[in-house]
Amino acid sequence: MKSISFIGLGNMGGPMCGHLLKAGYDVSAFDIAPDALERARAAGAHVAGSAAASAQGAEAVVTMLPAPAQVEEVLIGEGGVIAAMAPGTVAIDMSTSSRSLGERLLAAARERGVELLDAPVAGQSIGARAGTLAIYVGGPADAFERARPLFEVMGDPGRIFHLGPNGAGYTVKLLLNLLWFIQSVATGEVLSVGVRAGVSLAKLHEALVGSPATSNFLERDVRMVLDGGDYDDAFPMRLVTKDLGLAVDLAREVGMPVELSGLVEQIHRRARAAYGDDAGEISAIRLYEELAGLKLRLPPSG
Ligand code: NAD
Repeated sequence: MKSISFIGLGNMGGPMCGHLLKAGYDVSAFDIAPDALERARAAGAHVAGSAAASAQGAEAVVTMLPAPAQVEEVLIGEGGVIAAMAPGTVAIDMSTSSRSLGERLLAAARERGVELLDAPVAGQSIGARAGTLAIYVGGPADAFERARPLFEVMGDPGRIFHLGPNGAGYTVKLLLNLLWFIQSVATGEVLSVGVRAGVSLAKLHEALVGSPATSNFLERDVRMVLDGGDYDDAFPMRLVTKDLGLAVDLAREVGMPVELSGLVEQIHRRARAAYGDDAGEISAIRLYEELAGLKLRLPPSG
């Protein structure tokens, strides 16, 4: 595959498209935001006048859009991309989206003779810029193998997972985010209770990290808050709550009661309401800091 269409050139898609260009792919790019398009043009992409125009003549179309509503509009809405793709080509949705929309995309793709992969990512905009994303892929094995060279350019070749049929990628991505955001709330609760009970944050944190209850979140990710009061703006609360809503919907679709996940979703929605759509992804911990009347901060080391 040499000619690629790339649609959705935001925090993630912009740098991902840039890696394809640097690797020598011929990329036709589209975004509704003129500044995003301009950046893609400066990086060497041809700029298309619409999503469907960008897909014409492409061997693969990559979408990296905010949420299911935009994925639906772009791929199967009026004048949509799948209808503009040639039979035998591959549509690769790398957005964090839903399995239920994925089923409708698959029906449209089959009707057109187009292959479909869901391939959402983890690793944040820093990973998108560095080309080290983890990629979670669902769809037919032959389409996965055809797309693998693109994934290896955008992601870490050691963390490209073919997880099963269409929908498996979306499912795994939503569940890994759900688990991480559960840990964020749990960590905020535990640390604020401990400090209110009079234990020093440094000693509490060290003891928990060395205990059977430790996690990557406790050991590494929460340090942004504890060391610098940084709630991590790289992933905004508008996308956090979108992903958690999709994870709870997924549980409902498969008939699983998920009391904990429902509650955790609401806590993150409260944090979004309190601190704004663009507040950082660890903002739920601010709720606990406010309830406890303290800031969870470690003394400067050294
Ligand atoms: P973003 O909002 O920065 O970028 C989305 C881009 O899509 C924007 O440039 C926007 O103009 C464009 N767009 C919206 N509607 C469009 C349409 N109809 N046609 C063409 N372009 C359109 O979002 P992002 O941070 O790049 O995230 C993209 C996806 O990746 C989301 O599903 C997100 O959940 C997922 N994701 C993000 C991160 C992260 O750290 N930001 C990490 C992993 C996964």
